[in-house]
Amino acid sequence: MSRILNSMGIAAVAVSALLSTSPASASEEVNLYSYRQPFLIEPLLKSFTEDTGIKVNVVFAKKGMLEKIQAAGSNNPADAVLTVDIGRLYGLKQAGVFEPVKSDVLEANIPAHLRDPEGLWFGLTQRSRIVLASKDRVKPGELTSYEDLADPKFRGRICVRSGKHFYNIALIASMIAHHGEGEAKAWLEGVKANLARKPQGNDRAQAKAIYEGVCDVAIANTYYMGKMQTNEKKPEQKQWAESVRVTFLNQGASDRGAHMNVSGAGVLKGAKHKAYAIKLVEWLSEGKAQKIYAEDNFEYPANPKIAVSDIVKSWGDFKADTLSMEAIATRREAATKLVDEVNFNEGPTS
Ligand code: FE
Repeated sequence: MSRILNSMGIAAVAVSALLSTSPASASEEVNLYSYRQPFLIEPLLKSFTEDTGIKVNVVFAKKGMLEKIQAAGSNNPADAVLTVDIGRLYGLKQAGVFEPVKSDVLEANIPAHLRDPEGLWFGLTQRSRIVLASKDRVKPGELTSYEDLADPKFRGRICVRSGKHFYNIALIASMIAHHGEGEAKAWLEGVKANLARKPQGNDRAQAKAIYEGVCDVAIANTYYMGKMQTNEKKPEQKQWAESVRVTFLNQGASDRGAHMNVSGAGVLKGAKHKAYAIKLVEWLSEGKAQKIYAEDNFEYPANPKIAVSDIVKSWGDFKADTLSMEAIATRREAATKLVDEVNFNEGPTS
């Protein structure tokens, strides 16, 4: 596997060079663009190659992947894309760069609400956007819903990363889907009024802020909790995790459940190794890969036959919101507009 870089400029060149030195259609290989990080993806791809004999050339991308794929058109050097967030998957779909895939394996392994109806993308894992609540300063049951985040009793007590981050855009889009734009805007204004500080940092930084007493409630993705709880290299993160309680929201009997997002993959139009690209996505939906996602990255496997890790299990069972990923993706623009309209990233107004 060729290890490449975060710069798409350099990375694209590397893949082209590779293709020009090997007759593409004849060789058993597949070229993959990955937004997912090397530490997670490399063990998966190594195992795929061991199982199938198909070599994977991977480009780790950070920014500008969609633009590169679009600019390359039918000369795209990549066969498939691996990424997080429905916004990115949907953006690629809207750009018309995905090839529809019909696969009995994928249809059997991945529930319908976690894949595109036309087979343009397939969800591989799920994560919930949850609340981390201070064990000392938030009583169990004090905060039980996304709606509660706007309750004045949390004035000055909430920490969150940028409202424009795609994890928060998806959450706000789900609020629009459930309540309409007007109510969602009022909610977002309420959350902004409750912020302890200007939105900043990543999800883990919010748990740190709770540990340090800056705020009592943080919004974060589930797997970050697992990463902090098991971080041997940065034991301070274990303390951050120790100071918070995992809280799944909207769990009442008639309530909708916790907001979910996906990571997933799609095969690119014009893929020169299309059959191998499909094989890779199929393999990622099977037990061995799904177990790696569950154990190494604390994600919820999309394949319902695969169990979550012990750490994830320790957070308890919960009800997931089954709102379709499409319903979230189509409201992302409206969500971004709301973030601007309420000046969310300015932070709390006095
Ligand atoms: Fe993340």
